[in-house]
Amino acid sequence: MNSVDIEKEIEYISSFPDEDYLRIICEVGFVCDFCGRCCTSEFNDHVFLLDDDSERIIENAGREFLRPAPYFDLCDNLGRFYVMGYALKTKQNGDCIFYTGTRCEHYEVRPWVCKIYPYMLHREPDEEGNIEFRQISGLNLHGLYHNEISNEMCEEILKSVKDYESGFLRQKLGFIKEIERYFKENGLRNSKQMYDRMMRQYLKGKSIEVYVFLKGRFVKEVISKQINNPGSY
Ligand code: SF4
Repeated sequence: MNSVDIEKEIEYISSFPDEDYLRIICEVGFVCDFCGRCCTSEFNDHVFLLDDDSERIIENAGREFLRPAPYFDLCDNLGRFYVMGYALKTKQNGDCIFYTGTRCEHYEVRPWVCKIYPYMLHREPDEEGNIEFRQISGLNLHGLYHNEISNEMCEEILKSVKDYESGFLRQKLGFIKEIERYFKENGLRNSKQMYDRMMRQYLKGKSIEVYVFLKGRFVKEVISKQINNPGSY
């Protein structure tokens, strides 16, 4: 996806008719019953952080809970990876680092994506190319559905979802633009071959450099995969 596509998608999200999405929210009627399954590897590969989430968690819980988001976006010809943001670390079993087994240890500062769960937008085009709005978590697999939710609550959820989704896209857009500028300024290029080579080394336990995009700049992280602890850095 290039920057023009992302700008179009931001525009699409902001112009999507509120009443359509309010109807979906009301129909889904999700209420959390604190089963905690969405905090485990069963439902969640990782928890991606918007810049504001990263800053809030660093300030209130600590930097040690963050890692570069997995699935790095690209690698330069010198073997350095780049990714558009941080994620929360996971435990050895893949569960979120904040999940105690019964609750979220830092509920007050939990990321935006946890707050809007399960109403995140599934941005997949339908057969006519229109992007559909729907929740992406498995219906009726956890939590309680089809409850009555007040109009005020639905509107609040709608606003949070739109804010989150456009915030995610803006972060992506900023990342793409900064990559273009940074690569040009430093004579770098994207290398798929180097990506694969460095990833093989990483999977064998070697350290790699990952440049994480945060608030318009790159933060250098050096990470290695603990072979006996695949879920962690
Ligand atoms: S941050 Fe809290 S609410 Fe979000 S996945 Fe982790 S434990 Fe669950």
